[in-house]
Amino acid sequence: MSTTIPRYAVFGHPIAHSLSPRLHAVFAAQTGIALEYVAIDATPEAFVDALRDFFAAGGCGANITLPHKAAAFALADGCVATAQRVGVANVLTRLSDGRIEADSNDGAGMLADMCGRCGADPRDRHVLLLGAGGAARAAAFALLDAGVGSLTIANRTTARAQALAGSLAEPGRVGVARWDALEQSRAFDVIVNATSAGVQHAALALPSSLVHAHTIAYDLSYGPAARPFAGWAKRAGCAAASDGLGMLVETAAASFERWHGVRPDIDAALKEISAGNRP
Ligand code: NDP
Repeated sequence: MSTTIPRYAVFGHPIAHSLSPRLHAVFAAQTGIALEYVAIDATPEAFVDALRDFFAAGGCGANITLPHKAAAFALADGCVATAQRVGVANVLTRLSDGRIEADSNDGAGMLADMCGRCGADPRDRHVLLLGAGGAARAAAFALLDAGVGSLTIANRTTARAQALAGSLAEPGRVGVARWDALEQSRAFDVIVNATSAGVQHAALALPSSLVHAHTIAYDLSYGPAARPFAGWAKRAGCAAASDGLGMLVETAAASFERWHGVRPDIDAALKEISAGNRP
C-alpha cells in the first residue's frame, strides 16, 4: 500500500534566500513527521495560479513571503482573526472541506524573538518602522499591541506608509516620516527594518542621527540579506542589532504546529540553522 507524503511549500519572489524548507526539514526530523516542503518561486503575475495549482494538486499548506502576503490574504476563503485585522497572510492552510484559511503569525513571531532573545522589549519605546509592505503591516500591529510609546513609519513610497498608518487608526501614537528626510527625525529607541532592500541587494542610506547610545536595531531579514543593515547599525552606534532568524524560526514553528499539531523545539532548530546564516 502506498502512502502519500503531505506537501507544503513556501511561495515568494525571490525565494532562493528562504530557509523555510530547511527549517521544516529540521522540524520533521525532530518530530518524526514525514512531509515534503519545497520553495516555489512565483512572480506577482503568476502567484495566484501557482498557489491554486498547488492546492488543487493536494498541497496541504503554504507559507507566503515577499511580495505576496496581501495577495495571499485576498485569495483565501476565510481567515483567523489576526489575519483579518492586519489584512495580510503568511500562512495558508487547506481545511478538510477544501477551503483555504489565511493566518498571520509574523507579528507574534517578531515579538517573541525581539523580547525573548534580543532583550528589546518595545513597551513605552519610541520605535521607527522602516517599510510598509506585508511584513511591516504585521509588525506594526504587533508593536502597537506590545505597548510602544510611539510608532513612526518610514517607507520608500511615502503613500504606502501613510496608508499603513491610517489603517492602524491610532493617530496619537502613530506617525509617518518621509524616507528622504529621515535626518530630520528624532533618534529612536528601537529601529525595525521591515524592508526587502537586503534581499534585493540594495543598500539603505540611513542617517546615523536616528541612533542614540541605547538604540536597538532589529532586522526582519536574515542571512546575507541582513548584513547591510547590521553593518549600518554598528557604524551608526546602535547598542545592539539583531537579524530576523529567530523570528523566522518562531513563525515557522507556529506554522508547523498549525499543520501538524506538534510544537517543535525552536531553540534547537535555531541553533542548527544559525551556522553561516547570521550577519
Ligand atoms: P514586501 O514586498 O511586501 O515589502 C517590501 C518593502 O520593502 C516595501 O515597504 C518596499 O518599499 C521596501 N523596499 C524594497 N526595496 C527597497 C529599497 N531598495 N529601499 C528601501 N525600501 C525598499 O515584502 P515583505 O514585507 O513581505 O518582506 C519584507 C522583508 O522582511 C523581506 O526581506 C523578508 O524576507 C523579511 N521577512 C522576514 C521574516 C522573518 O520571519 N524573519 C518574515 C517576513 C518578512 P516600497 O513600498 O517603496 O516598494
